[in-house]
Amino acid sequence: MTTRYQAIVVGGGLVGAAIAFGLCRKGIATAVLDEGDRAYRAARANFGLLWVQSKGEKFRPYALLSRHSSEMWPEFARELRDITNIDVGLRLSGGLTFCLSDEEMQHRSALMRHQFEADLPCPGAYEMLDRRQLLDLVPQIGPEVAGASLCRLDGDVNPLRLLRALISGLQKLGGAYLPGHTVTGLECSPESFTVTTATNRFYCDRLVLAAGLANAQLGQQINLNIPVSPLRGQILVTEKQLPWLHLPTHIVRQTDEGGVIIGDSKEDVGFDDGTTPGVIGDIATRALRTFPHLSQTLAIRSWGGLRIMTPDGAPSYSRSPKRPGAFAFNVHSGVTLAPIHATFAATSVEEGRIVEPLLPFDGERFALQTAAQHAA
Ligand SMILES: Cc1cc2nc3c(=O)[nH]c(=O)nc-3n(C[C@H](O)[C@H](O)[C@H](O)COP(=O)(O)OP(=O)(O)OC[C@H]3O[C@@H](n4cnc5c(N)ncnc54)[C@H](O)[C@@H]3O)c2cc1C
Repeated sequence: MTTRYQAIVVGGGLVGAAIAFGLCRKGIATAVLDEGDRAYRAARANFGLLWVQSKGEKFRPYALLSRHSSEMWPEFARELRDITNIDVGLRLSGGLTFCLSDEEMQHRSALMRHQFEADLPCPGAYEMLDRRQLLDLVPQIGPEVAGASLCRLDGDVNPLRLLRALISGLQKLGGAYLPGHTVTGLECSPESFTVTTATNRFYCDRLVLAAGLANAQLGQQINLNIPVSPLRGQILVTEKQLPWLHLPTHIVRQTDEGGVIIGDSKEDVGFDDGTTPGVIGDIATRALRTFPHLSQTLAIRSWGGLRIMTPDGAPSYSRSPKRPGAFAFNVHSGVTLAPIHATFAATSVEEGRIVEPLLPFDGERFALQTAAQHAA
């Protein structure tokens, strides 16, 4: 087995696989070392939205980055299909966030004005739909639905096919995907990095930590402070149905295979990725208030997954100040931002410096925020 690579990516979830795909596309000899089924794997538990409308409300570069990614998606999906023959099921048909009262409509409307009209105008990106307009688009809504925001930059993909396409793509471009390789040790020398697993030692010039929640512990070994924490989401899926919902919504989406995915909670419960009847009940109730006809549908499966959250919820793209050549990437919207990771994040690794438009996302900001809080 080859053990020396130009770049090693630790973690084969959506973030690591997208960066490795981008590195392989540049002709950089890359290996992905991935733990496997026992690890926490957000990439295999998520909702599949390309979501722009609510991103970066407080951290404006995140709003811009999400818009940029949405624009890149059609070309990215085409490229993945050309290289791998896998169709990731991209739908950029816009996305809906429902409001169940006039008060919610007013609140949503103010948020959308802030997102798309204030400091970062984006003409035509969104529309507030009243109940009558919404009924034309989605006749199945229940009597409680007052309206919705429609953002034309939103969409969805099949996230499992996306992960498969990224891994297949990096392999077809000459990269190595090595599952069952839990990284236990990281060492730096002036020339290179040594990455240790239970059975092997690997060597590389560029090291990318993309191991999701495990980045916090791995980062310590190379003096990178990576403050990530879990936030659980539970999801419910129904039996397959004929297509009826032609655009994704923030709580319900129909997949290209027919199942309806209903989600998703936000629970601060540590590293417990299980499901609970109470939360699943709440999720189902909210979906039924929006789409009462779902009461006739059989729910067949539920699961929980852990989001990887930074302190401010925005991505963290860091290069180690002490160990040039070492990077750590943590993102809570790994589906939405996959094209960004395959391009700008991969270029950052290639060039040995974080490049625009990722510069505002340096993880150093958390240390500065903490220092400022202590000083206050
Ligand atoms: C319920 C839920 C809903 C979501 N919905 C959306 C959505 O609609 N849209 C969106 O954009 N995002 C969504 N996300 C977030 C998205 O799934 C994540 O941003 C993305 O999966 C993060 O990917 P990751 O590669 O950083 O982490 P992960 O997918 O967790 O991957 C980490 C990888 O690292 C590996 N690993 C861990 N430790 C080691 C080690 N020591 N050595 C080697 N490998 C290791 C694991 O095997 C794993 O494969 C959702 C997440 C959840 C939980």
